[in-house]
Amino acid sequence: MRAEIKVSGIVQGVGFRPFIYRTAVKNRLTGYVRNRGDAGVEIVIEGAENNVKHFINELENNKPPLAQIYNIAAEYFEDRDEFEEFTILKSSEDVEFSGSVIPPDVSICNECLKEMRDSKNRRHDYFFTTCTDCGPRYTTIRTLPYDKSNTTMQEFPMCPKCQKEYTNSLDRRFHAQTIACQQCGPSVYLASNRGETLDSEDPIREAGRLLEKGYIVAVKGNGGFHVACATTRDKPIARLRKVKRRREKPFAIMTRDLATVKTFAEVSPKEAELLTSYIKPIILLNKTENYYLSDLVAPSLHNVGVMLPYTGLHFMLFDTVKEPAFVMTSANAPNEPIVVDNDEAVEKLGSTVDFFLFHNRMIAQRCDDSVVRLHENRDLSIIRRSRGYAPEPIQLKRKADRCVLGLGAEENVTVCILLGDRAFVSQHVGDVENVETLEFLKNTVNHLIRLTNAKIDIVACDSHPKFATTRLAYELGENFGCQVVQVQHHHAHLAALMAEHNLSELVGIVCDGFGYGSDGSAWGGEVLHGFEGGFERLGHLQAQPMVGGDLATVYPLRMVAGILYGLVDVREWLLGYSDRFPHGEEEVEAIMKQLEKGVAFKTSSCGRVLDAVSALLGVCYERTFEGEPAMKLESAAVRGKDVLGLEPKINGNIIDTSFLLNIVFNHRKKYSIADLAYSAEAYLTRSLAELAVSEAERLDVKAIGFSGGVAYNEHITKTIRQRAEENKIKFVVHRLVPPGDAGTSAGQTIVASQAT
Ligand SMILES: [Zn+2]
Ligand SMILES: [Zn+2]
Ligand SMILES: [Zn+2]
Repeated sequence: MRAEIKVSGIVQGVGFRPFIYRTAVKNRLTGYVRNRGDAGVEIVIEGAENNVKHFINELENNKPPLAQIYNIAAEYFEDRDEFEEFTILKSSEDVEFSGSVIPPDVSICNECLKEMRDSKNRRHDYFFTTCTDCGPRYTTIRTLPYDKSNTTMQEFPMCPKCQKEYTNSLDRRFHAQTIACQQCGPSVYLASNRGETLDSEDPIREAGRLLEKGYIVAVKGNGGFHVACATTRDKPIARLRKVKRRREKPFAIMTRDLATVKTFAEVSPKEAELLTSYIKPIILLNKTENYYLSDLVAPSLHNVGVMLPYTGLHFMLFDTVKEPAFVMTSANAPNEPIVVDNDEAVEKLGSTVDFFLFHNRMIAQRCDDSVVRLHENRDLSIIRRSRGYAPEPIQLKRKADRCVLGLGAEENVTVCILLGDRAFVSQHVGDVENVETLEFLKNTVNHLIRLTNAKIDIVACDSHPKFATTRLAYELGENFGCQVVQVQHHHAHLAALMAEHNLSELVGIVCDGFGYGSDGSAWGGEVLHGFEGGFERLGHLQAQPMVGGDLATVYPLRMVAGILYGLVDVREWLLGYSDRFPHGEEEVEAIMKQLEKGVAFKTSSCGRVLDAVSALLGVCYERTFEGEPAMKLESAAVRGKDVLGLEPKINGNIIDTSFLLNIVFNHRKKYSIADLAYSAEAYLTRSLAELAVSEAERLDVKAIGFSGGVAYNEHITKTIRQRAEENKIKFVVHRLVPPGDAGTSAGQTIVASQAT
């Protein structure tokens, strides 16, 4: 019997051909296997019928750990006796099917780590030790099929020993495209901040020692550069903050091992499992009582972003130092994508760092570290879905009949291609405000289309007329000769949540900083009814004035002034904080003038109200990074109690937030900041939940959900869940798609696929 089989899924770069080879040989079959240009795999086998059946069975059930099979298309024929043996053929460029993709980068596996640590092994101390089960994938591939010649490993021809492993079907590096060793593979070296190579016997450990001494080192990884420094003293971090012009934004840290993480952070079993998984994301962990790292790592926050080493190089950095952890932050200029090129690194980072730890392998695709959080120690909430996740698709329950490309909003942009029942979401692209990021966005679109072999039917984007992503969508629509569908921002959040849970109807609370509303005004504290093909706005937070427009986002005291105007003597109070404004009293007077005249620009944003409470309580007066006032408010509330116990005040489906600010203002001297922060969050949450529950009951909708950037807040999410469950209503949040704006690209594709 002869079988011709085409397999789609994640089947390249995962040791699939070696697996097929071994399985075929074991079953005494002849024929061949080869990679295809559409990321799929083609197999032809001949042999006894029983053996063919057995082979197919093993293909389905014993596949390599990283492989994912979406479809096996097999055709059966009479035996033609065409082959002498079973072979792995040179890949074909054939492109026919869509929807296979290459795997995300995988952290170094235990086998490789063991070899790297074994003084008798020929890969002892070799930083780029990888195999068919581990190493870079997405970041190393230039084009399909996944063959060494199509990756950035092309510049490193195999030495005879590697060649022997590569061609030996019994070796675990049989057909491993990232195969390398000290003799033939990439090499690592230390350089000054002007890029001159420095003599060093042991550059990686030397870099570790330099870090421990207090120097700042830029470290090249698989998907881009990190800027690193020590974590136990203030001085290096203070310096790094100064040169990076990053005043307060928390830095992620890499810790030597799990046991060390537990000395300064709380780690639940689920968090430990994820920290040590092959994904190795950054996890936001609660600091323990005796947290001993510098407060400058994550200032005024109750948690800290922690990851474990994920390449051989990272492990070696810790070998000869006592430092428990290093800051490892993506190396990029503000609002620019992560740096990947050595020359570019010297040019852009030379004035920031003291040394470079370079290697000579190019990076094909930039990819930042992923960032996640586990609510209540168990529920995964993805903040940034990048290394270890992208480009693996999000599996949906329903199939779309048109292929849609979604471009996201403006901040935390990702690209999504909806193909059948899979949403291929790209790595983190960033805030598309400048040319560099826009260029990166365009590259990512092209790369993802090429990898998935998608034929785009519709381009989807935000409904904001002025977003760069909206302009790009029309440009691409023209190029592809296809329709462009603009999707309301919060509808996109809601649609992603509905698709993830396969719900055709949902009452959703969608809270974030800003989204362009259907009426042209600024939304962000919404209760929506989502259904197939559309949505309806059921209610929202009270629209509040933004004195000075975007300035009110940066200086949330301006929000407080706008909300409290007419309720308390704003002028007198504000003058007490004039040093919090760049122009002092003059600015306070200007704010008062605008308030007297009336402020036209209003927002129903939940983020802005949380910011206002944060400023009113003295937790945060200025936003130096996205979400800062609200994040610090959450941290301030961690040990608080609901001392105010405010009942929801909802007027005609509009939640009164002036009422909240007024009460907090009047009690600001009576209770602690923690208790007032907690009480304010509790009021907003209860009000949103009550509105959602009553609307769900009125509309007979069986579930309510929570999406938008505010859904990262554990206290708020937990309280809405409790309210929903008390009322016996199903409650859903995101598990796979990020709740923040990184998830809007996926939501846009869902809405557009249903558009008529
Ligand atoms: Zn390995
Ligand atoms: Zn070699
Ligand atoms: Zn949003």
